[in-house]
Amino acid sequence: MDYFGAPIEEVKNDIRVVFERCGVITVRFAHLMEKPHFKVGQTISNGQVIGIMGDTGASNLAHLHIDNALGCIRKPWKLRDVELGLIHPDPRELNWHIDEGMMDKIKVTTHYCDYDYMRERGKLHFGYDCSSTAKWPVKIRWNRSYKGTVVYNDYDEAYGNCIMIAYERRK
Ligand SMILES: [Zn+2]
Repeated sequence: MDYFGAPIEEVKNDIRVVFERCGVITVRFAHLMEKPHFKVGQTISNGQVIGIMGDTGASNLAHLHIDNALGCIRKPWKLRDVELGLIHPDPRELNWHIDEGMMDKIKVTTHYCDYDYMRERGKLHFGYDCSSTAKWPVKIRWNRSYKGTVVYNDYDEAYGNCIMIAYERRK
């Protein structure tokens, strides 16, 4: 499955975006406690633990920030990039991650385009912040039947230990 060698490619705002027509989505899991033990290119299967919830990067309470974007994206984007139209999220697809398959005793603390978040920070939140009442450490799992491929796994100032996984939706 070599969809990363991509037909249409553009460089915008220093973010390499590959616009795919075959339904590739990149999902980002941020603020993880430590760097997950995965290499870029590694395959992720249903039920696999991809990380432990943490508070690294710009976070002051342990939580998971999850968001997504169309295409195969290999570098963390900013929420501003979404507002600017450089990155295109897919909120409907994102909703399929948000359940107890992803994290035990999940609690959404900041919703997609949360009203209070926008008033406090002056930008839209194109993702979900999730916490959990489960016993520490809280494991985050890949709950999709699609196989995922790790496209980024590193520390980012804003998103802390951050793993990004691309997958191809069924047509
Ligand atoms: Zn967030």
